[in-house]
Amino acid sequence: MAVVGAGPAGFFAADALLKARDLVCSIDMFDSLPTPYGLVREGVAPDHPSIKKVTAKFDRVAAEPNVRFFGNVTVGRDLDRADLGRHYDHVVYAFGAQSDRRLGIPGEDLQGSHPATEFVAWYNGHPDFADWEFDLSHERAVVVGNGNVAVDVARILVTDPDVLATTDIADHALEALRRSRVREVVMLGRRGPAQCKFTSVELKELGRLHGVDVRLNAMDLDLDDASAAEAKRSRVATRNLEILRELTRRPASDADRGLVLRFLASPMEILGSDGRVTGVRVERNRLVETPSGYIQSEGTGEIEELPAGLVLRSVGYRGVPIPGVPFDDEHHVIPNVRGRVTDGPGGQTRPGEYAAGWIKRGPTGIIGTNKPDAVETVEAMLEDAAAGENMEPSDPGPESIPELLESRGVRFVTFDDWRKLDEAERAAGEAQGRPRVKVVRIERMLDIMGR
Ligand code: NAP
Repeated sequence: MAVVGAGPAGFFAADALLKARDLVCSIDMFDSLPTPYGLVREGVAPDHPSIKKVTAKFDRVAAEPNVRFFGNVTVGRDLDRADLGRHYDHVVYAFGAQSDRRLGIPGEDLQGSHPATEFVAWYNGHPDFADWEFDLSHERAVVVGNGNVAVDVARILVTDPDVLATTDIADHALEALRRSRVREVVMLGRRGPAQCKFTSVELKELGRLHGVDVRLNAMDLDLDDASAAEAKRSRVATRNLEILRELTRRPASDADRGLVLRFLASPMEILGSDGRVTGVRVERNRLVETPSGYIQSEGTGEIEELPAGLVLRSVGYRGVPIPGVPFDDEHHVIPNVRGRVTDGPGGQTRPGEYAAGWIKRGPTGIIGTNKPDAVETVEAMLEDAAAGENMEPSDPGPESIPELLESRGVRFVTFDDWRKLDEAERAAGEAQGRPRVKVVRIERMLDIMGR
């Protein structure tokens, strides 16, 4: 079996395969980075170490004798779909959502306007983003979106750098945040407080940030009837509203950093001068219920301009295709039925090809959501394996893949190599009272790994 992507979806799929009764298999996991764990390393916020503990489980999977890790191998470049078909019975695509959704408004590409996903990758030390620069020289930053990623980036922008200095945040990001002049972060939600997507634990955490005043307009919490009914049906929305109400009751503080939660506010245009962001033109929205019961936002024509030097667009991740693998351009996922890849939406299944995680279902859910998702995919694989359905590889020998990679000059790394880097990062962290100091250059990683 090949698993493309060594993030949560890939590891949960490998784990489910290992646990399958009556299945004898060997699993090769590929990742384009020399490091495993995908978004657990590159996405989870540095100040959320407990979420990263799931890597202990992934390490146990990787330690199984029939599991191999091939890091620094990009499927679609170093290996293609035809190679996988030649060497494996089954393949699980679990490569996540590598890009971001766009707002589709003027000014989106001005300097100083970035997808939040890039900011996340930057502060988490993703090698491709180590040289990114974010303009933190202005007092106000705007974060568009009301999901957990928006909460993460807003929190990192206002958190005391001395607190961040105890985490595994990338050194380049810590240095830049120490110099940051951002004092106010405004989060714009296009719908109301009953429709925000962030989870209650994350929202509550905002209210606990030291030296940060969280502000919102209490009037925004007066819900229309449809929103009140919707909130009543959702435990998360009910809890979020309680937390927001509690925040409005707090006395004003003299904190020197502020986080402003704005609802019913959509960016119409990102404003700029000389190619750089100077602000956001924002329209006030109202909520309307569609015939299907969905509560959507609608512009009122009431416009204001919000000066800002940085805009982070946090409106969702977006999957991107890899050559030779079917792709649904509308939903940005691999078309599939319960994980079985089809040759297009509603098309025929492709024997031996499967999808798991965000590239299967879209960029939703927390890390744990990937477990049942991967189990569903593996159930389909096991049914097909029992029925003899596979890619009918002509050369399934275990040595064929390392030989092929070597013949192509690919400097792939193994899990033992990763362990060397892991130890080096932890040792550097220990000296500074941090969980690890991340190495962010691929060449340096390969050096430490002896590759
Ligand atoms: P998300 O939860 O889907 O949130 C996207 C946000 O963008 C929503 O508020 C959405 O509003 C808004 N939006 C979309 N299009 C917009 C537009 N054109 N204009 C204005 N706003 C727009 O996505 P995410 O925050 O990227 O998170 C991805 C997944 O990772 C989520 O499942 C999240 O829970 C998870 N995650 C979890 C954690 C954690 O557990 N700590 C941390 C980070 C991420 P509408 O609702 O109106 O569409």
